[in-house]
Amino acid sequence: MAKKVAVINEARCDRSPFCPVKRVCPVHAVKGSMFAAPTIDESLCIGCGKCINYCPHGAVKLISVK
Ligand code: SF4
Repeated sequence: MAKKVAVINEARCDRSPFCPVKRVCPVHAVKGSMFAAPTIDESLCIGCGKCINYCPHGAVKLISVK
C-alpha cells in the first residue's frame, strides 16, 4: 500500500505566524520559520490527515508516495 504524506501548496499559504497546521501535527512533521510557508518532513509524516482540516486556506492535502 502506498504511503500517504501531507504537502503544502505554497500559493495558498498566507505564511501566518499563527499557522495552526504547525501546532496540530502529532509527530511534529510540520517545520518552518515564522513568516515562511511551512514544510512537511515526509520521513516523519504518518499521513493521519489531521492537519488538512486546520488550514483555513485549504493549502494542505494528502498525496500518495512510493
Ligand atoms: S498528515 Fe498528520 S502526520 Fe502528516 S503532517 Fe499532517 S498532521 Fe502531521
